[in-house]
Amino acid sequence: MEREFAGRKLQLVPGDITKETTDAIVNAANSSLLGGGGVDGAIHRAGGAAILEECKAIRARQGECPTGKAVITGGGRLAARFVIHTVGPVWKGGNRGEEALLASCYRSSLRLAAENGVASVSFPSVSTGVYGYPVKEAARVAIGAVAEFLENEERAPELVRFVLFDGITLQAYRDALQER
Ligand code: ADP
Repeated sequence: MEREFAGRKLQLVPGDITKETTDAIVNAANSSLLGGGGVDGAIHRAGGAAILEECKAIRARQGECPTGKAVITGGGRLAARFVIHTVGPVWKGGNRGEEALLASCYRSSLRLAAENGVASVSFPSVSTGVYGYPVKEAARVAIGAVAEFLENEERAPELVRFVLFDGITLQAYRDALQER
């Protein structure tokens, strides 16, 4: 499924984000930046040690990555040139600023992409795995934040792709994109 916002493409595809050939892929990291389970583990395994080394260097320079923010590294052995590591909120019931923090993840990641001249970027479904964010709500926030960025930012990437790992998640994002 695909839609255009201000002439830029927003695509939804099923698949494994570590195989993506967009200029950048986004990692659903944790604030330690030292790797973890889920998509984070998969990206570090596929990309090799160089990515972790860069994450450690960033950590030594600026400390942990706060929730809602993002940092950028090279792509190591991945096809993607860059990995943008963003830290999603842990779901705590919905009244702890989760929505604003999740939207901020997408905006921070897209801002870094724009600053680094990235023309195409792929996102996983941030926070909807171990972090427990209900997927229907997360999809609405994710699609809203990305569509708004594409519509309003001069230097936004030409292509933003959501690479969704399972059918329920893909359907939730389809519904959110259709409703928009
Ligand atoms: P979080 O801690 O932010 O919840 P997770 O990695 O636990 O992050 O899950 C986020 C989403 O990423 C989930 O929908 C999960 O199914 C998905 N996911 C896991 N591995 C991959 C992968 N290789 N490619 C794309 N998505 C993945």
